[in-house]
Amino acid sequence: MQNNFPYIEPTIRTIAGTLLTLSGLIIYFFSEHTGIALALLFFVSLNLAQSGFTRFCLMEKILKKFGFRSELEEIRDLNLAMAISEAEALSNIETLNMLNEVVIGITPQLNLSHVSKPIESLLGNAHLVDTFIGKPIAEIVFPADRVLVHDALSKILFDATGTWTLRFRLARGGIDEFWVEGKFFRREENGRATEIRGILRDITEPYLQEQRIVHMALHDALTGLPNRALLEDRMLQAVLDAEREGTKTAVIFVDLDNFKQVNDIYGHKAGDQLLVEVTKALKANLRQCDTVARWGGDEFIILLSRVNGLEDVRKMAGSLANAVGAHLLKNHPDYHVTLSLGGSIYPDDAKTPENLLIQADKALFFAKSQGRNNAKLFGEISKSELGYKDVDFTSDFSAAIRNELIQVYYQPIVDAHTHLPIGMEALARWHDEKYGWVSPTTFIPLAETLGSIEKLGHQVLEQALRQFAQCDTSMASGMFISINISNRQLVSNTFVADLIECVNRHAVNPKKIKLEITESVAVLGIDRAHELLSRLASAGFTLSLDDFGTGYSSLSYLHALPVDEIKIDASFVRRIQTDAGRVMVEAITHLGHALNMNVVAEGVESKECADILSGMGIDMLQGNYFRQASPKDECMSYIAACSKNAEAARAA
Ligand code: C2E
Ligand code: MG
Ligand code: MG
Repeated sequence: MQNNFPYIEPTIRTIAGTLLTLSGLIIYFFSEHTGIALALLFFVSLNLAQSGFTRFCLMEKILKKFGFRSELEEIRDLNLAMAISEAEALSNIETLNMLNEVVIGITPQLNLSHVSKPIESLLGNAHLVDTFIGKPIAEIVFPADRVLVHDALSKILFDATGTWTLRFRLARGGIDEFWVEGKFFRREENGRATEIRGILRDITEPYLQEQRIVHMALHDALTGLPNRALLEDRMLQAVLDAEREGTKTAVIFVDLDNFKQVNDIYGHKAGDQLLVEVTKALKANLRQCDTVARWGGDEFIILLSRVNGLEDVRKMAGSLANAVGAHLLKNHPDYHVTLSLGGSIYPDDAKTPENLLIQADKALFFAKSQGRNNAKLFGEISKSELGYKDVDFTSDFSAAIRNELIQVYYQPIVDAHTHLPIGMEALARWHDEKYGWVSPTTFIPLAETLGSIEKLGHQVLEQALRQFAQCDTSMASGMFISINISNRQLVSNTFVADLIECVNRHAVNPKKIKLEITESVAVLGIDRAHELLSRLASAGFTLSLDDFGTGYSSLSYLHALPVDEIKIDASFVRRIQTDAGRVMVEAITHLGHALNMNVVAEGVESKECADILSGMGIDMLQGNYFRQASPKDECMSYIAACSKNAEAARAA
């Protein structure tokens, strides 16, 4: 058992003995009890002398009696501790050899001076530790990483403090992705490096996993192209390079025209495949130094570095569009997919990546608004007579759709005899800080040109049905809601399914929903129009032919279409007080009734007009005379007030 009492060093014991001797002398000279003092003096002196010349020490024996550690014990424990640490050191080497980490020593000439055994399993069993000793470190490093390792070790040799961590690949036959993490530190004598010590750890699996995660975070999963995050980084780099070198760089937005149709008609798989093909075609027609990234959906962005200016970019964009267009035409002639491009140039059009993108986006929208399969550069548009405003307007409107800023207002539709509301028409509204209230007659055709009408239509449908379902059921129970449907929505393969899904989700009876189709549905051809409208009719919806009498004369096919109602266009209603106007409205009304259809007159602005129309036997009226379009709550208050007044009148 080990003694836990302290060990008293001989020096201290000698000092203690001397002090005792002195006290003995003092007692001897100043006390009467000299006998005890002399005995004490004799004992200590003797003991001290004995302690000095022999190994035996009586005082130590006495101290030991009281439990203190003896000198022999102390010496034995010290020896034991030394033996243990030596054994541990030896076993550490064994342990190191058992670990997966490789311990290496590197000479200032960058040769291996020591390599622990696990290097054999790290590099494959054919290698033996001893064969590496004296060889350059480069021999165990993957060729492509040798310069990196050499440079890093040289740096460590000359100006390193602390531990350096370096990731590189080992040269393991046939495997080019064998990653290790090396931790290195420098050993030195008299300020000069004598050796670099290092530990190598196999990190292949976690490293590749990490790389995969980084790649996923920066690339688009479908096409493998850089995504927005990586593109923004590359753009910043390109702008900085151009600034430093005094060169120009260009950004081109590429958008696929009719891509939505491919998705709708041929399915999402075909759409995905097309995106992959376009990616390949774009890459094949770009220079090595250019970047193509996927911005989202069917939009790509191309970053052209070191361009000469507008003409150069125009040529590159043109040949890119031609080459990819030709590829698509050859491989998918039935898709009718073309490319629209919009570009901007640093530093001519903008000085920051963000603004370059904004200008390129404007150029793209401008290109699209001029017709598909078009390319425009921002620099060209600014010189055109249309100026900035239209481009801004277009892109602001697109942003409004993207950000779902389109609202829905409601205009009541009244019974022509009672003048009581029986339904309401949902009308899209866009308010912008810059432009104020923008008329749908402006933005609906724009949305059609830009290909965003389906998105807009969906937002209106969603909002209208949600709000209609929220309306007081007793108030809305007998009411219907009219929703305008653009032809482009109508031809979309998913339209009917989306519509039914939306109606079911909001638990609205399709019988209460009137779909207002414009007369121009005739351009689709009678068979196609019939087919599309029949699908809606058999799903239970009421169909109304809006703006009747304008545009395409539909008299010839009116009887062949499954429509329940015609809405006489406001342009006729406005002329009701003229003979010609009256004759036209009467003729349309008779025609509608003859075909078993309801007739609605819109644009009723006065009592006189309302009375004339009612007198003609028209079924429903709509117009600012009754109420103009307003938000849901206002419209519902109007409807509630009307029915309250009617009840009061009945009671009176
Ligand atoms: P519309 O479907 O014929 O709608 C009737 C238009 O006449 C509405 O114009 C309405 O506000 C306006 N109006 C009603 N009563 C009067 C009146 O007494 N006097 C005058 N001057 N105008 C009156 P708004 O809201 O400007 O809509 C214009 C057109 O835009 C609509 O004509 C419709 O074709 C289209 N539109 C509106 N919302 C949508 C929508 O959500 N989808 C689609 N595809 N088209 C829409
Ligand atoms: Mg309408
Ligand atoms: Mg109309």
